[in-house]
Amino acid sequence: MTKIYEIYGRDAHEMTKALMTAADIKSEIPDGARIALKPNLILAATPEEGATTHPGVLSGCIEYLQEAGFWDISVIESSWYGEKTERSMKVCGYDQVCDRYAVPFYDLKKDSVRTTDTPFRPMDICAKALDADYLIDLPVLKGHCQTAMTCALKNLKGCIPDREKRKFHSDGLFEPIAALGAVLKPSLIIVDSICGDLNFEEGGNPVPTNRMMLGTDPVQMDAYGCQLMGLDPDDVPYIALAEAWGAGSSNVVNEEIVRLNEPERAKGYPNASGLVRELTRNVHADSACSPCYAALVRALYMARREGIRITDRISIGQGYRGKSIKGIGIGNCCRQAERCVPGCPPTPREILDLLR
Ligand code: SF4
Repeated sequence: MTKIYEIYGRDAHEMTKALMTAADIKSEIPDGARIALKPNLILAATPEEGATTHPGVLSGCIEYLQEAGFWDISVIESSWYGEKTERSMKVCGYDQVCDRYAVPFYDLKKDSVRTTDTPFRPMDICAKALDADYLIDLPVLKGHCQTAMTCALKNLKGCIPDREKRKFHSDGLFEPIAALGAVLKPSLIIVDSICGDLNFEEGGNPVPTNRMMLGTDPVQMDAYGCQLMGLDPDDVPYIALAEAWGAGSSNVVNEEIVRLNEPERAKGYPNASGLVRELTRNVHADSACSPCYAALVRALYMARREGIRITDRISIGQGYRGKSIKGIGIGNCCRQAERCVPGCPPTPREILDLLR
């Protein structure tokens, strides 16, 4: 299956179940499989801060699996170096989810490891991740100060011990991330793109997009994540490396993206953090869908990095349908603007091209 399933909305639990149902995931899982769920619980922060996987993704995934008759389910994760995983799990509400569904949570900082050959070098990888028959990767799509973005491949870094994480950094991150993806291939990826940070994996500048995606190829999901963030996959060198080492294919075919609903289900734009507020001071939004607004924020951020000064009024949102607008309009709803970026939603690249 190379299809990508996409859904818009605000209810992470129901969106996750809808994605898994649409993709008929239960038919892909072998009977009696040991299923391990690997969220992004990098630090002790609630998902609204843009860094951690929403607990609703976890509960939706577990509920779908249990309703389909799968009971050997666990949640595995180790927070980043210096953070206690148990603290992160409580702050993010995972303890309540695991209690409600009677699913064990394993802190991989306490797990045994096995030294495993990879295309780059032997690596210590946690046994619970290696021993899963069906590994479900539940990353957050967000920015990263060193790798530009993080999604499916980099989320697997939580499956190695802290000393190996430090080695990843001294190895320059790209090669070890790609090599880990080549040996620890997840069977399923469900991406939380509800509220990812613009720049930093630890959060702080969340830009709600109210969107989730499901796929089975981590390289493809990362390549698609790049597209949604306005990045070229070449900006994230571990994607091509992972592809070369057999972790998947970066080919994203638009016709193979199955949208379960339209962006209008993700109405409303976020309470802006400091950076977002500064970037959007010329923006006039009226009932904008979150993915449209997020694409604009991303484009404004890239424009600022290129030194482009924007003084024009920018309009966005369903409230502008059928109205004549001065300045720039974003998306099909603003077709009557003096200059419009068409699309529903347009991509950050398309918006940036017009801003340039
Ligand atoms: S163009 Fe309009 S309907 Fe489409 S995503 Fe943007 S605001 Fe929503």
